[in-house]
Amino acid sequence: MTVLPNSLHARDVAYHFHPYTNARRHERVGPMIIERGAGIHVYDDQGREYIEAMAGLWSVGVGFGEGRLVEAAARQMSRLPYYHTFTHKAHEPSILLAERLVRLSPEGLDHVFFTNSGSEANDTVVKLVWYYNNALGRSAKKTFIARQGGYHGITVAAASLTGLPTNQRGFDLPLPFVRHVTCPHAYRHARAGESEEAFADRLAAELEAVILEEGPETVAAFIGEPLMGAGGVLPPPRTYWEKVQAVCRRHDVLVVADEVITGFGRLGTLFACEHYGIRPDMMVVSKQITSSYQPLAAVLFSDAIYQGLADHSEAIGNFGHGFTGSGHPVATAVALENLAIIEERGLVANAARSGARLQQALAPFAEHPLVGEVRGVGLIAAVEIVADKASRAKFDPPGRVAFHLFERAQAHGLIVRAIQDTVAFCPPMIITQAEVDELVARFALALEETAAWVG
Ligand code: PLP
Repeated sequence: MTVLPNSLHARDVAYHFHPYTNARRHERVGPMIIERGAGIHVYDDQGREYIEAMAGLWSVGVGFGEGRLVEAAARQMSRLPYYHTFTHKAHEPSILLAERLVRLSPEGLDHVFFTNSGSEANDTVVKLVWYYNNALGRSAKKTFIARQGGYHGITVAAASLTGLPTNQRGFDLPLPFVRHVTCPHAYRHARAGESEEAFADRLAAELEAVILEEGPETVAAFIGEPLMGAGGVLPPPRTYWEKVQAVCRRHDVLVVADEVITGFGRLGTLFACEHYGIRPDMMVVSKQITSSYQPLAAVLFSDAIYQGLADHSEAIGNFGHGFTGSGHPVATAVALENLAIIEERGLVANAARSGARLQQALAPFAEHPLVGEVRGVGLIAAVEIVADKASRAKFDPPGRVAFHLFERAQAHGLIVRAIQDTVAFCPPMIITQAEVDELVARFALALEETAAWVG
Protein backbone atom coordinates (compact mmCIF):
# COMPACT_ATOMS: atom_id res chain seq x y z
CA MET A 1 0.00 0.00 0.00
CA THR A 2 1.31 3.48 -0.85
CA VAL A 3 1.25 5.68 2.23
CA LEU A 4 0.54 9.31 1.36
CA PRO A 5 2.14 11.90 3.66
CA ASN A 6 -1.22 13.24 4.80
CA SER A 7 -2.94 9.85 5.01
CA LEU A 8 -4.46 8.56 8.24
CA HIS A 9 -1.64 6.00 8.29
CA ALA A 10 1.07 8.65 8.16
CA ARG A 11 -0.67 10.84 10.74
CA ASP A 12 -1.12 7.91 13.08
CA VAL A 13 2.60 7.15 12.96
CA ALA A 14 3.43 10.83 13.41
CA TYR A 15 1.18 11.63 16.36
CA HIS A 16 -0.30 8.57 18.02
CA PHE A 17 1.79 6.69 20.59
CA HIS A 18 0.10 3.29 20.81
CA PRO A 19 -0.49 1.09 23.84
CA TYR A 20 1.08 -2.39 23.77
CA THR A 21 3.04 -1.63 20.61
CA ASN A 22 6.70 -1.61 19.63
CA ALA A 23 6.90 2.04 18.58
CA ARG A 24 9.83 1.58 16.19
CA ARG A 25 8.12 -1.33 14.46
CA HIS A 26 4.99 0.81 14.23
CA GLU A 27 6.99 3.44 12.32
CA ARG A 28 7.90 0.74 9.81
CA VAL A 29 4.59 -1.11 9.42
CA GLY A 30 2.03 1.57 10.35
CA PRO A 31 -1.45 0.97 11.74
CA MET A 32 -4.15 -1.44 10.67
CA ILE A 33 -7.13 0.87 10.58
CA ILE A 34 -10.45 -0.75 11.44
CA GLU A 35 -13.40 1.20 10.13
CA ARG A 36 -16.51 -0.63 11.19
CA GLY A 37 -17.91 -3.81 12.64
CA ALA A 38 -21.03 -5.97 12.30
CA GLY A 39 -21.77 -9.12 14.31
CA ILE A 40 -18.57 -11.15 14.72
CA HIS A 41 -16.84 -9.26 11.89
CA VAL A 42 -14.77 -6.09 11.58
CA TYR A 43 -13.70 -4.37 8.35
CA ASP A 44 -10.49 -2.48 7.66
CA ASP A 45 -10.00 0.65 5.56
CA GLN A 46 -9.18 -1.52 2.52
CA GLY A 47 -12.62 -3.11 2.80
CA ARG A 48 -11.23 -6.46 4.03
CA GLU A 49 -13.43 -8.51 6.35
CA TYR A 50 -12.12 -10.30 9.45
CA ILE A 51 -13.68 -12.65 11.95
CA GLU A 52 -12.85 -10.89 15.22
CA ALA A 53 -11.95 -14.05 17.12
CA MET A 54 -10.79 -12.02 20.14
CA ALA A 55 -13.96 -9.90 20.41
CA GLY A 56 -11.66 -6.86 20.37
CA LEU A 57 -9.83 -7.30 23.67
CA TRP A 58 -11.85 -10.26 25.05
CA SER A 59 -14.77 -7.93 25.34
CA VAL A 60 -17.38 -7.35 22.64
CA GLY A 61 -19.79 -10.03 23.90
CA VAL A 62 -22.90 -8.96 21.97
CA GLY A 63 -20.90 -8.39 18.78
CA PHE A 64 -20.28 -5.27 16.72
CA GLY A 65 -22.97 -2.90 15.45
CA GLU A 66 -25.58 -3.65 18.11
CA GLY A 67 -28.20 -0.95 17.55
CA ARG A 68 -29.82 -1.33 20.96
CA LEU A 69 -26.61 -0.21 22.66
CA VAL A 70 -26.30 2.75 20.29
CA GLU A 71 -29.86 3.78 21.16
CA ALA A 72 -29.34 3.29 24.90
CA ALA A 73 -26.27 5.55 24.74
CA ALA A 74 -28.06 8.18 22.63
CA ARG A 75 -31.11 8.20 24.96
CA GLN A 76 -28.91 8.69 28.01
CA MET A 77 -26.76 11.29 26.24
CA SER A 78 -29.76 13.44 25.47
CA ARG A 79 -31.25 13.08 28.94
CA LEU A 80 -28.14 13.41 31.11
CA PRO A 81 -24.82 12.95 29.27
CA TYR A 82 -22.75 13.27 32.38
CA TYR A 83 -23.02 13.59 36.04
CA HIS A 84 -20.78 12.44 38.84
CA THR A 85 -21.41 10.30 41.89
CA PHE A 86 -19.23 12.13 44.43
CA THR A 87 -20.58 13.71 47.62
CA HIS A 88 -23.99 11.97 47.71
CA LYS A 89 -24.91 12.67 44.06
CA ALA A 90 -26.51 9.84 42.10
CA HIS A 91 -28.36 9.13 38.87
CA GLU A 92 -30.71 6.41 37.79
CA PRO A 93 -28.55 4.20 35.53
CA SER A 94 -25.74 3.84 38.08
CA ILE A 95 -28.22 3.00 40.85
CA LEU A 96 -30.03 0.43 38.71
CA LEU A 97 -26.79 -1.13 37.52
CA ALA A 98 -25.36 -1.42 41.04
CA GLU A 99 -28.53 -3.18 42.15
CA ARG A 100 -28.52 -5.46 39.10
CA LEU A 101 -24.90 -6.46 39.59
CA VAL A 102 -25.53 -7.38 43.22
CA ARG A 103 -28.54 -9.50 42.17
CA LEU A 104 -26.61 -11.26 39.38
CA SER A 105 -23.32 -11.83 41.17
CA PRO A 106 -22.27 -14.76 43.37
CA GLU A 107 -23.75 -14.80 46.87
CA GLY A 108 -22.08 -12.59 49.43
CA LEU A 109 -21.25 -9.63 47.18
CA ASP A 110 -23.54 -6.84 48.27
CA HIS A 111 -22.00 -3.50 47.29
CA VAL A 112 -20.56 -1.96 44.13
CA PHE A 113 -17.94 0.68 43.34
CA PHE A 114 -17.59 1.85 39.71
CA THR A 115 -14.43 2.71 37.76
CA ASN A 116 -13.61 3.30 34.09
CA SER A 117 -11.26 0.36 33.53
CA GLY A 118 -10.22 -2.99 34.90
CA SER A 119 -6.86 -1.56 35.95
CA GLU A 120 -8.50 1.20 37.95
CA ALA A 121 -10.81 -1.39 39.47
CA ASN A 122 -7.85 -3.46 40.66
CA ASP A 123 -6.07 -0.38 42.01
CA THR A 124 -9.33 0.32 43.82
CA VAL A 125 -9.31 -3.23 45.24
CA VAL A 126 -5.88 -2.62 46.73
CA LYS A 127 -6.94 0.68 48.27
CA LEU A 128 -10.24 -0.69 49.58
CA VAL A 129 -8.46 -3.61 51.23
CA TRP A 130 -5.85 -1.33 52.82
CA TYR A 131 -8.54 1.09 54.01
CA TYR A 132 -10.62 -1.81 55.35
CA ASN A 133 -7.72 -3.28 57.31
CA ASN A 134 -6.86 0.15 58.68
CA ALA A 135 -10.50 0.44 59.74
CA LEU A 136 -10.14 -2.82 61.65
CA GLY A 137 -6.92 -1.61 63.27
CA ARG A 138 -4.87 -4.21 61.35
CA SER A 139 -2.43 -1.73 59.88
CA ALA A 140 0.20 -4.40 59.13
CA LYS A 141 -2.17 -6.56 57.03
CA LYS A 142 -1.38 -5.12 53.59
CA THR A 143 0.43 -7.69 51.40
CA PHE A 144 -1.28 -9.09 48.31
CA ILE A 145 -0.53 -12.49 46.86
CA ALA A 146 -0.96 -12.84 43.10
CA ARG A 147 0.26 -15.40 40.56
CA GLN A 148 3.02 -15.46 37.96
CA GLY A 149 1.27 -15.24 34.62
CA GLY A 150 -1.70 -13.39 36.11
CA TYR A 151 -2.99 -10.19 34.51
CA HIS A 152 -4.71 -7.47 36.49
CA GLY A 153 -3.95 -4.38 34.43
CA ILE A 154 -1.30 -1.74 33.98
CA THR A 155 -1.77 1.10 36.46
CA VAL A 156 0.89 1.18 39.16
CA ALA A 157 -0.79 -1.09 41.71
CA ALA A 158 -2.55 -3.27 39.14
CA ALA A 159 0.66 -3.79 37.15
CA SER A 160 2.32 -4.82 40.41
CA LEU A 161 -0.37 -7.49 40.87
CA THR A 162 0.12 -8.59 37.26
CA GLY A 163 2.66 -11.38 37.01
CA LEU A 164 3.96 -10.79 33.49
CA PRO A 165 7.48 -9.42 32.90
CA THR A 166 6.35 -7.35 29.91
CA ASN A 167 4.23 -5.13 32.18
CA GLN A 168 6.99 -4.61 34.70
CA ARG A 169 10.24 -4.53 32.74
CA GLY A 170 11.32 -0.95 32.23
CA PHE A 171 8.69 0.44 34.62
CA ASP A 172 10.42 -0.11 38.01
CA LEU A 173 7.65 -2.50 39.00
CA PRO A 174 6.31 -4.42 40.86
CA LEU A 175 5.90 -2.45 44.07
CA PRO A 176 6.91 -4.45 47.13
CA PHE A 177 3.37 -5.01 48.50
CA VAL A 178 2.92 -8.04 46.22
CA ARG A 179 4.24 -11.62 46.33
CA HIS A 180 3.77 -13.79 43.25
CA VAL A 181 3.28 -17.54 43.54
CA THR A 182 3.57 -20.26 40.89
CA CYS A 183 1.40 -20.04 37.81
CA PRO A 184 -1.34 -22.70 38.06
CA HIS A 185 -0.80 -24.12 34.58
CA ALA A 186 -0.23 -27.86 34.58
CA TYR A 187 1.25 -28.15 31.06
CA ARG A 188 4.20 -25.93 31.96
CA HIS A 189 4.42 -26.15 35.75
CA ALA A 190 3.24 -29.60 36.91
CA ARG A 191 6.02 -32.12 37.47
CA ALA A 192 6.35 -35.21 35.31
CA GLY A 193 3.72 -37.70 36.41
CA GLU A 194 2.05 -35.25 38.82
CA SER A 195 -1.77 -35.40 38.64
CA GLU A 196 -3.78 -32.18 38.40
CA GLU A 197 -5.00 -32.74 41.96
CA ALA A 198 -1.48 -33.30 43.27
CA PHE A 199 -0.33 -30.17 41.43
CA ALA A 200 -3.18 -28.23 43.06
CA ASP A 201 -2.12 -29.60 46.47
CA ARG A 202 1.41 -28.41 45.83
CA LEU A 203 0.20 -24.93 44.79
CA ALA A 204 -2.00 -24.64 47.88
CA ALA A 205 0.92 -25.73 50.07
CA GLU A 206 3.15 -23.12 48.40
CA LEU A 207 0.53 -20.43 49.04
CA GLU A 208 0.29 -21.42 52.68
CA ALA A 209 4.08 -21.43 53.03
CA VAL A 210 4.27 -17.90 51.59
CA ILE A 211 1.55 -16.67 53.96
CA LEU A 212 3.38 -18.21 56.94
CA GLU A 213 6.73 -16.84 55.80
CA GLU A 214 5.30 -13.33 55.43
CA GLY A 215 3.26 -13.70 58.63
CA PRO A 216 -0.55 -14.05 58.30
CA GLU A 217 -0.96 -10.77 60.19
CA THR A 218 0.67 -9.01 57.20
CA VAL A 219 -1.14 -10.80 54.33
CA ALA A 220 -4.34 -9.06 53.28
CA ALA A 221 -5.61 -10.72 50.09
CA PHE A 222 -5.13 -13.29 47.37
CA ILE A 223 -6.12 -12.14 43.89
CA GLY A 224 -6.60 -14.31 40.82
CA GLU A 225 -8.43 -14.62 37.55
CA PRO A 226 -10.55 -17.77 37.87
CA LEU A 227 -9.07 -18.77 34.50
CA MET A 228 -6.06 -16.74 33.43
CA GLY A 229 -6.60 -14.85 30.18
CA ALA A 230 -3.80 -12.56 29.07
CA GLY A 231 -1.20 -14.95 30.50
CA GLY A 232 -2.17 -17.37 27.72
CA VAL A 233 -5.67 -18.75 28.52
CA LEU A 234 -4.63 -20.99 31.41
CA PRO A 235 -7.37 -23.01 33.14
CA PRO A 236 -6.30 -23.99 36.67
CA PRO A 237 -5.79 -27.64 37.62
CA ARG A 238 -8.79 -29.50 39.02
CA THR A 239 -9.51 -28.72 42.74
CA TYR A 240 -7.20 -25.66 42.67
CA TRP A 241 -9.75 -23.09 43.74
CA GLU A 242 -11.27 -25.10 46.58
CA LYS A 243 -7.79 -25.73 48.03
CA VAL A 244 -6.59 -22.16 47.61
CA GLN A 245 -9.74 -20.77 49.20
CA ALA A 246 -9.36 -23.09 52.19
CA VAL A 247 -5.83 -21.79 52.78
CA CYS A 248 -7.01 -18.16 52.52
CA ARG A 249 -9.89 -18.71 54.95
CA ARG A 250 -7.55 -20.39 57.42
CA HIS A 251 -5.35 -17.31 57.56
CA ASP A 252 -8.03 -14.62 57.27
CA VAL A 253 -6.85 -13.65 53.79
CA LEU A 254 -9.49 -12.12 51.48
CA VAL A 255 -10.19 -13.84 48.16
CA VAL A 256 -10.47 -11.49 45.17
CA ALA A 257 -11.78 -12.90 41.87
CA ASP A 258 -10.75 -10.87 38.84
CA GLU A 259 -13.55 -11.65 36.38
CA VAL A 260 -12.68 -8.85 33.95
CA ILE A 261 -12.49 -11.36 31.07
CA THR A 262 -14.59 -14.21 32.41
CA GLY A 263 -17.57 -12.24 33.74
CA PHE A 264 -20.99 -12.27 32.06
CA GLY A 265 -20.89 -15.61 30.34
CA ARG A 266 -17.52 -16.28 28.76
CA LEU A 267 -17.14 -19.78 30.25
CA GLY A 268 -20.78 -20.71 29.63
CA THR A 269 -21.76 -19.71 33.17
CA LEU A 270 -22.67 -16.14 34.11
CA PHE A 271 -19.50 -15.90 36.20
CA ALA A 272 -16.43 -18.14 36.29
CA CYS A 273 -16.87 -18.20 40.08
CA GLU A 274 -19.86 -20.51 39.47
CA HIS A 275 -17.79 -22.76 37.21
CA TYR A 276 -14.99 -23.12 39.76
CA GLY A 277 -17.00 -22.88 43.00
CA ILE A 278 -15.34 -19.64 44.11
CA ARG A 279 -16.97 -17.62 46.94
CA PRO A 280 -15.01 -14.38 46.65
CA ASP A 281 -14.95 -11.54 49.17
CA MET A 282 -14.42 -9.16 46.24
CA MET A 283 -14.99 -9.49 42.52
CA VAL A 284 -13.89 -7.25 39.64
CA VAL A 285 -15.84 -7.07 36.37
CA SER A 286 -15.44 -5.03 33.19
CA LYS A 287 -15.23 -5.62 29.41
CA GLN A 288 -18.41 -7.63 28.70
CA ILE A 289 -20.33 -5.51 31.21
CA THR A 290 -20.88 -3.04 28.32
CA SER A 291 -19.45 -5.28 25.56
CA SER A 292 -16.80 -2.51 25.64
CA TYR A 293 -19.14 -0.10 23.86
CA GLN A 294 -18.33 2.18 26.80
CA PRO A 295 -15.43 2.05 29.26
CA LEU A 296 -16.71 0.71 32.59
CA ALA A 297 -15.61 -1.59 35.39
CA ALA A 298 -16.94 -2.43 38.82
CA VAL A 299 -15.64 -3.77 42.11
CA LEU A 300 -18.16 -5.82 44.08
CA PHE A 301 -17.54 -6.59 47.74
CA SER A 302 -19.07 -8.21 50.78
CA ASP A 303 -21.17 -6.52 53.41
CA ALA A 304 -18.46 -7.20 56.01
CA ILE A 305 -16.01 -5.15 53.93
CA TYR A 306 -18.63 -2.46 53.37
CA GLN A 307 -19.18 -2.11 57.15
CA GLY A 308 -15.46 -1.54 57.70
CA LEU A 309 -15.22 1.00 54.87
CA ALA A 310 -18.32 2.84 56.03
CA ASP A 311 -17.12 3.05 59.63
CA HIS A 312 -13.72 4.32 58.54
CA SER A 313 -15.20 6.92 56.18
CA GLU A 314 -17.24 8.19 59.11
CA ALA A 315 -14.21 8.22 61.39
CA ILE A 316 -12.08 10.10 58.82
CA GLY A 317 -15.00 12.18 57.58
CA ASN A 318 -14.83 11.05 53.94
CA PHE A 319 -13.95 8.13 51.67
CA GLY A 320 -11.32 9.94 49.61
CA HIS A 321 -11.33 7.84 46.47
CA GLY A 322 -13.31 8.06 43.22
CA PHE A 323 -13.05 8.86 39.51
CA THR A 324 -14.66 11.65 37.51
CA GLY A 325 -16.20 8.84 35.50
CA SER A 326 -17.22 6.55 38.42
CA GLY A 327 -20.66 5.22 37.48
CA HIS A 328 -20.77 7.36 34.32
CA PRO A 329 -24.45 7.62 33.28
CA VAL A 330 -23.89 6.72 29.61
CA ALA A 331 -21.62 3.77 30.46
CA THR A 332 -23.99 2.42 33.11
CA ALA A 333 -27.03 2.90 30.82
CA VAL A 334 -25.22 0.95 28.09
CA ALA A 335 -24.31 -1.76 30.61
CA LEU A 336 -27.94 -2.17 31.67
CA GLU A 337 -29.02 -2.60 28.04
CA ASN A 338 -26.11 -4.92 27.31
CA LEU A 339 -26.97 -7.16 30.28
CA ALA A 340 -30.60 -7.19 29.11
CA ILE A 341 -29.47 -8.37 25.66
CA ILE A 342 -27.27 -11.09 27.16
CA GLU A 343 -30.24 -12.33 29.15
CA GLU A 344 -32.98 -11.99 26.50
CA ARG A 345 -30.92 -13.65 23.78
CA GLY A 346 -29.63 -16.40 26.03
CA LEU A 347 -26.02 -15.53 25.24
CA VAL A 348 -24.61 -17.37 28.25
CA ALA A 349 -26.22 -20.58 27.00
CA ASN A 350 -25.00 -19.75 23.49
CA ALA A 351 -21.47 -19.31 24.83
CA ALA A 352 -21.77 -22.79 26.36
CA ARG A 353 -23.07 -24.29 23.07
CA SER A 354 -20.75 -22.49 20.65
CA GLY A 355 -17.96 -22.85 23.20
CA ALA A 356 -18.39 -26.64 23.24
CA ARG A 357 -18.16 -26.57 19.44
CA LEU A 358 -15.02 -24.42 19.57
CA GLN A 359 -13.28 -26.71 22.08
CA GLN A 360 -14.32 -29.79 20.09
CA ALA A 361 -13.14 -28.32 16.78
CA LEU A 362 -9.78 -27.19 18.19
CA ALA A 363 -9.05 -30.43 20.10
CA PRO A 364 -7.71 -32.39 17.07
CA PHE A 365 -4.97 -29.75 16.56
CA ALA A 366 -3.31 -31.24 19.66
CA GLU A 367 -1.99 -33.92 17.27
CA HIS A 368 -0.35 -31.35 15.00
CA PRO A 369 3.48 -31.42 15.13
CA LEU A 370 3.65 -27.68 15.96
CA VAL A 371 1.08 -27.82 18.77
CA GLY A 372 1.96 -28.57 22.38
CA GLU A 373 -1.40 -28.03 24.04
CA VAL A 374 -4.97 -27.07 23.14
CA ARG A 375 -6.90 -25.70 26.11
CA GLY A 376 -9.85 -23.60 27.18
CA VAL A 377 -13.30 -23.54 28.75
CA GLY A 378 -16.49 -22.41 27.02
CA LEU A 379 -15.86 -19.63 24.55
CA ILE A 380 -12.24 -18.96 25.43
CA ALA A 381 -9.52 -21.17 24.06
CA ALA A 382 -5.86 -21.34 23.11
CA VAL A 383 -3.38 -23.35 21.08
CA GLU A 384 0.20 -23.39 22.34
CA ILE A 385 2.94 -23.73 19.74
CA VAL A 386 6.10 -25.71 20.56
CA ALA A 387 9.36 -26.44 18.76
CA ASP A 388 9.38 -29.98 20.10
CA LYS A 389 6.27 -31.83 21.25
CA ALA A 390 8.06 -34.42 23.38
CA SER A 391 10.24 -32.05 25.39
CA ARG A 392 7.73 -29.14 25.16
CA ALA A 393 10.67 -26.93 24.14
CA LYS A 394 9.78 -23.45 22.93
CA PHE A 395 10.96 -21.87 19.73
CA ASP A 396 13.90 -19.50 20.02
CA PRO A 397 13.23 -16.63 20.31
CA PRO A 398 9.88 -17.31 22.05
CA GLY A 399 6.82 -16.03 20.23
CA ARG A 400 8.38 -15.89 16.76
CA VAL A 401 6.36 -18.75 15.28
CA ALA A 402 3.11 -17.87 17.05
CA PHE A 403 3.47 -14.35 15.67
CA HIS A 404 3.87 -15.73 12.15
CA LEU A 405 0.74 -17.81 12.72
CA PHE A 406 -1.09 -14.70 13.91
CA GLU A 407 -0.06 -12.88 10.71
CA ARG A 408 -1.11 -15.78 8.47
CA ALA A 409 -4.46 -15.92 10.27
CA GLN A 410 -4.94 -12.21 9.62
CA ALA A 411 -4.14 -12.75 5.94
CA HIS A 412 -6.98 -15.30 5.92
CA GLY A 413 -9.42 -12.87 7.53
CA LEU A 414 -9.09 -14.04 11.12
CA ILE A 415 -8.02 -11.85 14.03
CA VAL A 416 -6.55 -13.87 16.90
CA ARG A 417 -4.07 -12.88 19.60
CA ALA A 418 -0.51 -14.16 19.86
CA ILE A 419 0.59 -14.33 23.49
CA GLN A 420 4.21 -15.42 23.39
CA ASP A 421 3.94 -18.99 22.02
CA THR A 422 0.19 -19.20 22.38
CA VAL A 423 -2.60 -18.22 20.02
CA ALA A 424 -5.78 -17.20 21.85
CA PHE A 425 -9.44 -17.21 20.80
CA CYS A 426 -12.25 -15.38 22.57
CA PRO A 427 -14.92 -14.56 19.97
CA PRO A 428 -18.11 -12.58 20.58
CA MET A 429 -20.69 -14.58 22.56
CA ILE A 430 -23.21 -14.26 19.72
CA ILE A 431 -21.09 -16.53 17.51
CA THR A 432 -23.02 -19.39 15.90
CA GLN A 433 -21.72 -22.92 15.53
CA ALA A 434 -21.37 -22.43 11.75
CA GLU A 435 -19.29 -19.31 12.38
CA VAL A 436 -17.12 -21.27 14.83
CA ASP A 437 -16.48 -23.80 12.04
CA GLU A 438 -15.47 -20.99 9.67
CA LEU A 439 -13.16 -19.51 12.32
CA VAL A 440 -11.47 -22.87 12.85
CA ALA A 441 -11.17 -23.48 9.09
CA ARG A 442 -9.31 -20.18 8.66
CA PHE A 443 -7.07 -21.05 11.60
CA ALA A 444 -6.28 -24.46 10.05
CA LEU A 445 -5.09 -22.77 6.84
CA ALA A 446 -2.87 -20.40 8.80
CA LEU A 447 -1.41 -23.27 10.84
CA GLU A 448 -0.57 -25.28 7.72
CA GLU A 449 1.16 -22.28 6.14
CA THR A 450 3.07 -21.69 9.37
CA ALA A 451 4.18 -25.33 9.48
CA ALA A 452 5.45 -25.01 5.89
CA TRP A 453 7.29 -21.77 6.83
CA VAL A 454 8.94 -23.44 9.84
CA GLY A 455 10.01 -26.25 7.47
N1 PLP B 1 -7.97 -7.80 34.77
C1 PLP B 1 -8.02 -8.71 33.79
C2 PLP B 1 -8.26 -10.14 34.12
C3 PLP B 1 -7.85 -8.33 32.45
O1 PLP B 1 -7.86 -9.25 31.48
C4 PLP B 1 -7.66 -6.96 32.16
C5 PLP B 1 -7.49 -6.50 30.77
O2 PLP B 1 -7.37 -7.29 29.86
C6 PLP B 1 -7.59 -6.05 33.23
C7 PLP B 1 -7.76 -6.50 34.51
C8 PLP B 1 -7.31 -4.60 32.97
O3 PLP B 1 -8.40 -4.00 32.39
P1 PLP B 1 -8.20 -2.60 31.57
O4 PLP B 1 -7.44 -2.93 30.33
O5 PLP B 1 -9.61 -2.17 31.33
O6 PLP B 1 -7.49 -1.67 32.47
